Amino acid sequence: MEYAGEKLYSRCPVPIQNLLMSVYGWRLRSERFGREFDRASELLDRSQWFSLEELEAYQEERLRLVVRHAYETVPYYRDLMSGLGLEPGDVTRLSDLSKLPVLTREDVDRSLDQLVSEAAGKKSLQKTHSAGTTGSSLYMYWDQEVGYMNNACLWRERSWAGIEFGDPIATCLGRPVVPLEQKGPPFWRHNRPWNYLMLSPLHMTDESAPLYIEAMRKAGVVALDAYPTAAYVLARFMEARDEYLPLKCVFTTSEPLLDVEREVIEERFRCRVFDGYSQSERVMFTSECDKHTGHHLYMEFGITELLDDEGAPVPDGTVGRVVATGLHNFGMPFIRYEVGDTASMSGTDCPCGRKLPLMGDVAMRAEDILVTPDGRLVPPLMVARAFKLVPGIVRSQIVQHDAAEITTRLVVKEPLTQHEEDDLRRNIADRLGPAVRVEIEYVDEIPLVGRSKYRRVISTVPLVWGKTTTANLYQEEGGGEGTGDRKEERAGASRTGA
Ligand SMILES: [Zn+2]
Repeated sequence: MEYAGEKLYSRCPVPIQNLLMSVYGWRLRSERFGREFDRASELLDRSQWFSLEELEAYQEERLRLVVRHAYETVPYYRDLMSGLGLEPGDVTRLSDLSKLPVLTREDVDRSLDQLVSEAAGKKSLQKTHSAGTTGSSLYMYWDQEVGYMNNACLWRERSWAGIEFGDPIATCLGRPVVPLEQKGPPFWRHNRPWNYLMLSPLHMTDESAPLYIEAMRKAGVVALDAYPTAAYVLARFMEARDEYLPLKCVFTTSEPLLDVEREVIEERFRCRVFDGYSQSERVMFTSECDKHTGHHLYMEFGITELLDDEGAPVPDGTVGRVVATGLHNFGMPFIRYEVGDTASMSGTDCPCGRKLPLMGDVAMRAEDILVTPDGRLVPPLMVARAFKLVPGIVRSQIVQHDAAEITTRLVVKEPLTQHEEDDLRRNIADRLGPAVRVEIEYVDEIPLVGRSKYRRVISTVPLVWGKTTTANLYQEEGGGEGTGDRKEERAGASRTGA
């Protein structure tokens, strides 16, 4: 749903919103499933048991297709390769990839139109954007094939946890499904075609949390798919009331999963957490299997390189910059794309028997939970998404020291117009509510934390769970804003699996 659609949606009564959600679900279901999805799923079913040699052979076969396609139909790559004196025949093996330069986020921003395949026709592509590692918006296009493949990966991840399509699942991520103006229950909507109970990530308080849990119980959900912070908030509120909601599994994605989050979630939902990691750029997909020894890298989806600062591959066990090549988006190929996160390969075999390599620590952004004056705890990604609609923002960061006020630090190409500033304030108010004052501060740069770790959301406001109060996520170990390597390690360590 586009923004205007969301506005209209928010004015409808609840039964109509449920109906609209299911209509949307039907449309999405017909877009994401079908013969191509079945074909992708069959491949993934088989290939999860491939040997490493077979997996690499598959990658090289796809790489040759992508590189030839890019050279023949994508102006950016045609120019780039010609300039380097390269032809498709020069990039056929995994080891040939390093002949091509790394594609940065700035490259994509600058050359978006040149990166789209002439063979695709923009109408057949879906325009989308990433919420952005650096808090800016990045537009991109997906073709249908990558949509099917991504969906097939998602359902393979779920099958590893024993979940099938049609099983009742609660979700707590993505779009605000319940308008903020709504003060009473139900804080969820039903997407019938997917059998999803869609929980609002924006309405979680001490008082509403028991209602969320009751709704999940009533709907008989067997799994929860949520931002780690959202699942953590629900689990903490259950802890405060000494409650449990046994599920088969909890899936987490899109934010780093901290050890403390995993512990509390697993205890209260009486099941294991299956963490996954992927990006909007559709170049990489990873998830845990039921052995929880790290993230299996889905080699069928993309080629992942981990590089040091000079661009050389790092050995197993060493943290490197993630650079990845998507193998399925022919509408807008990303070849050697610098994702902006760091990770390491563990170099060990998984007892599950799959040869899909295990990634050790994926160090993503480090972000806190936002707190509102009316006691709502809001996942950071929900607010980071507010920036996607305002162009011209190079970097952004939200800083909160008081529930009633946030400061939005912006690095911009040129200062926003009054209209754009108002837009930004409104987007934030749509998520945090009108009682939160929004200051906008223009800065020249936003410092990184530790090694290239970027923080989009910093909150020093403590979290209150019933009668218990804890520090916000990244303040737990002392220190305040801009904390250094210690927390970097902590966030990184949390990604090593249980
Ligand atoms: Zn495994």
